[in-house]
Amino acid sequence: MKHLQSMTIPEIGEVLKEMNQPAFRAKQVYAWLHKGVQSYEEMTNLPKALRDTLAERFPLHIPEVVRKQVSKADGTIKYLWKLSDGNCVETVLMRYHYGNSVCISTEVGCRMGCAFCASTLGGLVRKLEPFEMLNQVLFTQLDSGLPISHIVLMGIGEPLDNMENVLRFLELVNSPEGMNISMRHISLSTCGLVPKIDELGDKKLQISLAISLHGSNNAIRNRIMPVNKAYPIEELLPACRRYYEKTSRRIHFEYAMIDGVNDSVQNAKELLQLLKGLPAHVNLIPLNHVEESPLKPSSKAAVAAFQSILEDGGVTATVRRTLGSDIDASCGQLRRKYTRQQVGTDEEQRK
Ligand code: SAH
Repeated sequence: MKHLQSMTIPEIGEVLKEMNQPAFRAKQVYAWLHKGVQSYEEMTNLPKALRDTLAERFPLHIPEVVRKQVSKADGTIKYLWKLSDGNCVETVLMRYHYGNSVCISTEVGCRMGCAFCASTLGGLVRKLEPFEMLNQVLFTQLDSGLPISHIVLMGIGEPLDNMENVLRFLELVNSPEGMNISMRHISLSTCGLVPKIDELGDKKLQISLAISLHGSNNAIRNRIMPVNKAYPIEELLPACRRYYEKTSRRIHFEYAMIDGVNDSVQNAKELLQLLKGLPAHVNLIPLNHVEESPLKPSSKAAVAAFQSILEDGGVTATVRRTLGSDIDASCGQLRRKYTRQQVGTDEEQRK
């Protein structure tokens, strides 16, 4: 079924035309949807009969807060939303000096299988609809009362595995009649689906591309990221260069530092060689420990040494501040806990 909440103004116009409504109503409906109304009743400038018909034909899907955690340390807020079909996804709001940024989910679960990531443990359940991504931004802003200026697609899921819906989401959230968030304030993170990186580059959007690299050679990447077997480093990096050539946007590389796996001096030197000549920025992220995984974060000393090798070699590298670590703010952890609790409750009831 087509969701009104994922439609552009001309598409809503088509729907309304069939209902013999004047063209200007499309903009009104769109504006209300992008304000985050909870029901058609709130669309007070529409005739009652139209509100009723729309409610019948296009039921509104509003996410429900099932958990909200606020970090005492830094004000980071993590939401666990329940979608209309009962599935849950997470959104994290982070407060920076340049504004408030939300990290949104693009899928329920993930099928990429990265060894260190909580989101992939139960596999992919389904892809999110464009409006389900938009609603994460919208309802986080409404619930928190904090205006959102930046978005990262780094929550649960692989955005480039849900390309069509992600592109529509970007169009919606960027629209002047909607939230009007600048493409330059949006960052998309991928584990490295090469053909999709090319496809995205061809759109020439001004969004930043972040690549989850996490390894300085194929052996390491193969071990922790199955996607590398399909798209090894020698294919991934040229795709990054092509993205840069098409968009002039510097590429961000994410590198989760895992004790004894990818954090040696040798690894840092290898990474330097890989990135030579590419307009790149490296984000070093001390691994967030996931209960089900034997992988551990690198020591502070190893992170610092790694960073200075990159910097000395001319590649800018920052160590990502860990925000909200007191509230399970890394990818998929809250959903996983909640789902397990629910399963636990069901099992209790069966006993
Ligand atoms: N699928 C996309 C986006 C979601 S993951 C991607 O792979 O980029 C967002 C980022 O968090 C990725 O860089 C991912 O590798 C990283 N990540 C996942 N689990 C992590 C963990 N336990 N510790 C640190 N970073 C993690």
